[in-house]
Amino acid sequence: MSDIIDLQNVRKEYGSVAALRGVSLRVGRGEFVAIVGPSGSGKSTLLQLMGTLDRPTSGTVRIDGHDVASLSDAQLSALRAQRIGFVFQQFHLAAGVSAVDNVADGMLYQGIAPAKRRELAVASLERVGLGHRMEHRPNQLSGGERQRVAVARATAGSPSILFADEPTGNLDSVAGADVMTLLGELNRDGTTVLLITHDRDVAANAPRNFHIRDGAITLDSSTGQGTSIGGMA
Ligand code: ADP
Repeated sequence: MSDIIDLQNVRKEYGSVAALRGVSLRVGRGEFVAIVGPSGSGKSTLLQLMGTLDRPTSGTVRIDGHDVASLSDAQLSALRAQRIGFVFQQFHLAAGVSAVDNVADGMLYQGIAPAKRRELAVASLERVGLGHRMEHRPNQLSGGERQRVAVARATAGSPSILFADEPTGNLDSVAGADVMTLLGELNRDGTTVLLITHDRDVAANAPRNFHIRDGAITLDSSTGQGTSIGGMA
């Protein structure tokens, strides 16, 4: 089977700034990979491209067998809705909306009937250990619980890939460790997990790390080599 993420010589330029300088990397189905690098190294840009939220200036991005360049915006939106989940540092839950509705509303664009959305939302909240918090609103939950609601929302529709962008950045160490445990469990159940972080201790939770610096992959821990083409030019 093909790799679930396959980037070949990807460049991304913002005007005269080259945020990514020829990145090539592959991630297999079912892997748990952390991309780790300092602020400004290109992590968010890489996430946007792998998450099909943006297109490269040059190079090829293939996600779940699809060349992103060959898809229309509508096809890309459908690919994202069906196959990709996102979790962010800031949780991004709707205020004043219960946990179960936050999770159910995350499936609005997947063509799932309302009753089925609610059923999946309940199951997903139970899986993250929040079966007793269904009707709580975000302001009635701790930071760790909010992030678990966000994970439940991102995974309720059984995406192939979960992108987690600094998911522990706003949490204390205990709640952060719980979220990392949860990501590990989802990975063991078959979800490919891509974790983005500036924190090497957090990245150490993942079996494979890519180090990124100045828009280039300087190390793939599985080979001990960098993977960028074109180096720093
Ligand atoms: P990180 O997520 O590792 O902090 P980013 O991907 O956000 O890194 O940024 C990589 C580089 O690209 C930085 O030099 C940043 O200033 C630049 N950059 C990112 N997004 C934009 C943008 N929309 N416009 C201009 N420059 C950008």
